[in-house]
Amino acid sequence: MQELKVLSKEELQGLDSPKISENFFHSDIQKKVYIESYGCQMNFSDSEIVTSILLENGFGTTSSLEDADAILLNTCAIRDNAEQKIRNRLKSFTHLKKNNPQLTIGVLGCMAERLKVKLIEEEKIVDLVAGPDAYRDLPRLMGEIEAGNKAINVFLSKEETYGNIEPVRLHTNGVTAFVSIMRGCNNMCSFCVVPFTRGRERSRDVHSIIRECENLLANGYKEVTLLGQNVDSYRWENPDTNEVVNFANLLEAVAQVSPELRIRFSTSHPKDITDEVLYTMAKYENICKNIHLPAQSGNNRILQLMNRTYTREWYMERIDSIRRILGEDCGISHDLIAGFCSETEEEHQDTLSLMDYVKYDFGYMFAYSERPGTPAEKKLEDDIPEPVKKRRLAEIIDLQRKHSEIRNKRMVGQIQKVLVEGDSKRSKEQHFGRNDSNKIVVFDKKGEKVGDYVTVKITSCTTGTLIGEIV
Ligand code: SAM
Ligand code: SF4
Repeated sequence: MQELKVLSKEELQGLDSPKISENFFHSDIQKKVYIESYGCQMNFSDSEIVTSILLENGFGTTSSLEDADAILLNTCAIRDNAEQKIRNRLKSFTHLKKNNPQLTIGVLGCMAERLKVKLIEEEKIVDLVAGPDAYRDLPRLMGEIEAGNKAINVFLSKEETYGNIEPVRLHTNGVTAFVSIMRGCNNMCSFCVVPFTRGRERSRDVHSIIRECENLLANGYKEVTLLGQNVDSYRWENPDTNEVVNFANLLEAVAQVSPELRIRFSTSHPKDITDEVLYTMAKYENICKNIHLPAQSGNNRILQLMNRTYTREWYMERIDSIRRILGEDCGISHDLIAGFCSETEEEHQDTLSLMDYVKYDFGYMFAYSERPGTPAEKKLEDDIPEPVKKRRLAEIIDLQRKHSEIRNKRMVGQIQKVLVEGDSKRSKEQHFGRNDSNKIVVFDKKGEKVGDYVTVKITSCTTGTLIGEIV
């Protein structure tokens, strides 16, 4: 049985920079790491930070599982099925580990943070567990494994933003990139595991964000998506001047990097999104007119049980403000949960009627999945039968399909500015890109390159795609 090495908080605080166990470099061969990411954009962005830390510390990367000395899964814990997927993926590595007992298998991210040492106990194949704030410690953890131990670090930090780490772009098209502006979440939505897996909210130094955006532009990137669980509560205070930068100020500063650099952001919270943010969006052509504004439910009693801290009326007023300040073309998308604890048929109908009111362009829709340790799991009963949840979810998805079609159809005949991102899935003769409101646009190639802005006339559409021609 291998020893399970857990560092005390004091030992970890003594590590001012990542240190690697001597043993790890006894061999001359560079250790190659394979990383797979699951879940939200934030996890994909974190994998780029992880890669940067590993490369800085003498590791290599590989895109081949067979070639890897270490396999790291950056995981999601938001719903039970996300975790089951990871457990199945871990099982699929059994033969690799059998053929190569030296192979390190690591679990990073939210599932690592949620399950901690239990993950190593339950999944024997796992050697390494690292939570979202422990990535600077990865080289040392890898060294522990080289020394024959199992390794875990799941301490959550109040300060870590990885602000000084230049992410290594993975699976990149060379045009669009994620830029993380904050970490953690201070909201306590009763259904959500994120505050427990990602810790307290902290905002990254505005200067390091701007520097990252400038570097991206210098390297040919044309679009950044600013990421946070609740971007509207971004707040950075300059320690020298006490000047406070809020999200609207940050947006403005990023917009001024270059008119050639497009800006998107996610996720907005209905309780926090201000008119100041909307007016800043209106002021700059390069801030894309698209807002992801999760509603979760259209019913006030359910919103209260979810601890979302806004009402249906408040949410509708925010939608009205978006339309008033940014116009009818502004894209609006949502997250909605079907079958939350005690939700009645009438309350579910309120969600559908909210959808009818907004006519969202797009949405992420989920059946409620009870998560251990959350306020909902502790205080409420997960009492909606699975078939009912599924049926309500299907109704939500069906309605969204109709609304997506309505929203896409109104674009037919319009002229749209599109950033070319790559070949369309269907044909090498066609490019695809996205317009201001985040809709996929497909069009025949006419000599333009990936990374160019083109003007496209929309000629037809499906529920998911706009089809057009360069004019
Ligand atoms: N911070 C964002 C927000 O406040 O909307 C997104 C957080 S979460 C990563 C993405 C979405 O997953 C949530 O908006 C919610 O719709 C969904 N979600 C979170 N917990 C869930 C649960 N227990 N069951 C089903 N869906 C859940
Ligand atoms: Fe979860 Fe709510 Fe925070 Fe979003 S705002 S991450 S749903 S707790």
